[in-house]
Amino acid sequence: MRLFLWLCFTGLLGSVVWGQNHPQMMWGSEEEVPFQPRHNLHRIFTADRFFEEPDVFPLYAGRHFRPSPGYRDWQPCLGNPTAAEWAADAAINFFRENPEAVSFPIGMNDSNRYCECPLCQDLIEYENTFRNRPDASALMFTFANRVAELVEEEFPDKYLTILAYLWAENTPPFPVHRQILPYLTADRTQWYDEEFQAEDRDLMARWAEAGPEKLGIYDYFYGGSFLIPRMFWTSMEKSLNHAYELGFTTVFTEMGPTYWDLTKEEVLRRKILDPQRTVADLLTEVAAERYGAAGPLMEVFYLWAEYYWREGSQLRREVADASLGNPYWIRGFRQTYMAQLFPVDSLAVVEQIFGVAENVAKGGGVSPEQRENLEQVRAQFAFFAKYRRWVESIWNLAYGEPGEDELQAMLEEISETGLRLQEMIDGFIADDSREARNLRNSWGYLKDQTLRPLPGQWGKQPLPDADQYIWQTDAWAKLSEAFPHSGFSAWGKARDLPNQLAESSWNWKEDEDGWQFLVATGGAENVAVEDAVLRFEPGGRHHLFRRFVWETPEGENVFRWGLEMRGRLSRGAIAEVQAHFFDHRGHRMGPKQKGFLSGFSDRLMQEWKPVWLSGFVPEGTSWALFSLEVRELAEGDWVEVQKPQLFFTE
Ligand SMILES: [Zn+2]
Repeated sequence: MRLFLWLCFTGLLGSVVWGQNHPQMMWGSEEEVPFQPRHNLHRIFTADRFFEEPDVFPLYAGRHFRPSPGYRDWQPCLGNPTAAEWAADAAINFFRENPEAVSFPIGMNDSNRYCECPLCQDLIEYENTFRNRPDASALMFTFANRVAELVEEEFPDKYLTILAYLWAENTPPFPVHRQILPYLTADRTQWYDEEFQAEDRDLMARWAEAGPEKLGIYDYFYGGSFLIPRMFWTSMEKSLNHAYELGFTTVFTEMGPTYWDLTKEEVLRRKILDPQRTVADLLTEVAAERYGAAGPLMEVFYLWAEYYWREGSQLRREVADASLGNPYWIRGFRQTYMAQLFPVDSLAVVEQIFGVAENVAKGGGVSPEQRENLEQVRAQFAFFAKYRRWVESIWNLAYGEPGEDELQAMLEEISETGLRLQEMIDGFIADDSREARNLRNSWGYLKDQTLRPLPGQWGKQPLPDADQYIWQTDAWAKLSEAFPHSGFSAWGKARDLPNQLAESSWNWKEDEDGWQFLVATGGAENVAVEDAVLRFEPGGRHHLFRRFVWETPEGENVFRWGLEMRGRLSRGAIAEVQAHFFDHRGHRMGPKQKGFLSGFSDRLMQEWKPVWLSGFVPEGTSWALFSLEVRELAEGDWVEVQKPQLFFTE
């Protein structure tokens, strides 16, 4: 128990540091918020307690699952009353040891892998989905209410924070205990989408009547992880006003601010302190304070950025570009294609604005500190503009039709620009600030992905045989060297490794091409094999696996796995290729890697489209599993796949 309490305690301490990156406030107050939302069940249901009572751990494929330490992609058997007792004990012990604490988190693990036992499954609604996902709110809040009833006996004034998140965003069909404090997660930066805004307003209103004494909103106001100037003043205004009017208690935002987000963060802070003020006024005020006489010009920049964020939201519905995704969850999080919301042609306008601002600053009316603020945002924009043009060059390389004579020059330019961008980022390393760190991390997430449009992830077909001649050039070698993890390296000959399907206890099937697959829970009748094309239709969750034993191949540590896909995926439906790696004890090696094809809005996708996933095989891999997962298909959705291929190379 001591260890457990220590974990909880440091967790709370940690959240103070975390809070710097992710602002949380209560209306009208700068006091530290005593309620922290977080994923916490994996800390309560630890692997070492498995043999104490295996039944509280989830039932997967007929066996109770014992998570390895630190592994979080699972949920406990929430339908089991003993699970609630364990969570209540954890909360009660925590409150006894920390009498000053007013809340304890019982937020779900960050996962949709629910227990498959009848107690749990009976409380998950697969037919009447919410946001195109199964609705597990009845299960989650049955568990939460049980925990609260046990905690209430000794601590009637404390709160249990929980996340209304993923499959449990909806209000359950019964009252929620007053001591449960749900944080409603949603990307409200996307309230420019009228339909989404209306639905989200309604959800917030229903929660306000659902029983809890206190409620929080949990927003994704990034910031870092995007690299773009992600500004959304109007939706900030509307969503905060709505939460305030409904009586929500706290506002939590994931932000990870970079330099230009400091203005956004300060506007947010003042808005929460004084909800009667408008975001528009606050932006003018904060811009004037941060940039002096250049404030009005900077305001133009901030409104320019909002314009394209809003336009992107509308484009999603109007343009047949699947990559724009749907408004649920965090659209475009750590995705390069977000840069394309900002037309290359529009960059020059902002560059001119910064030029004028610089002249204004020289003319006086700008303090040294304001001048530094201005310089930081200008430097960040210079980086963004170069990055945005780089994305365009790579796009042109992949989807234009350059002749062989042009290719070398294009590759040279892409390579040079990539190196220059890396230098610019290195320049920010001298700055040890939170903002610089977030900017560097964003580049870290996105740089390699940016170089990987060739497999056709961008919604267009790549050049035919592009790889054949690109890989022969010197510039390619240079690029591979500059970005060793980008997957920008030549692929060797395809080689299937021997598999051990026969030794598996799973119910494997095989088609005439030797393409082995497994159809999971309840989906068998909904998958058809015809001329080596597999078709998936709604009903159950579908998994298609091909499993390989890794023969520790010498030097062959890069994989490329994918297939061709077409179909109709409504919002929230998922069809993705995945690669999983395990060591000899079956422990997962690093994070599961995905190449996804999801959130295709209501667009019809009739053409075959290659979907590829590539990367490095983690060191120490004993066996690997390459899979396709199709799930949450709605009525009218269908997916077909063909030509699965797996390559390994050095
Ligand atoms: Zn269960």
